[in-house]
Amino acid sequence: YDPCFCPVCKRAFVPGADPDALQEHLTGRHAWHLHYLTYGEEVLVDVDPHRHALLRADDGELFHLDLNRVRRTHADEDGTSISVIRMRPDNAVGAEAEFSYEVKPPGAVRRMKAPVWSSSLRRGMEDGNRIFVTVPEAGRHWHLVNVCIWRLPARS
Ligand SMILES: [Zn+2]
Repeated sequence: YDPCFCPVCKRAFVPGADPDALQEHLTGRHAWHLHYLTYGEEVLVDVDPHRHALLRADDGELFHLDLNRVRRTHADEDGTSISVIRMRPDNAVGAEAEFSYEVKPPGAVRRMKAPVWSSSLRRGMEDGNRIFVTVPEAGRHWHLVNVCIWRLPARS
């Protein structure tokens, strides 16, 4: 195995290329919140920008819910940007697979859909997803959104 680098502490962890080890490291060492995910089904996630969320799909894939506070000129237009990054501990496995995700705050009519960025952790860097959706902070205590991820059929 090639080494796999933690995107938080930038250190290689052993034995590398193992999604279970990566999950254990991120939830144990860095207190990321873990959610289990079935493709095509909604999972309710707390999108507090001070936390990190990790989504584990039933086929073992790991997705990082990257959250950032978005500040606008008018405070009541502030929001939280959400992007989903697939974390690949093993550079060689499933590099061609594609995913998309959808975000829907409870009670909201509108859904926001975007592609999932795929990032290999081999070089110790998680590539930022330049495509994200922003959820407004309507009321201060509104941090829950439904997230749905699809694994797209392979292209031939
Ligand atoms: Zn770490």
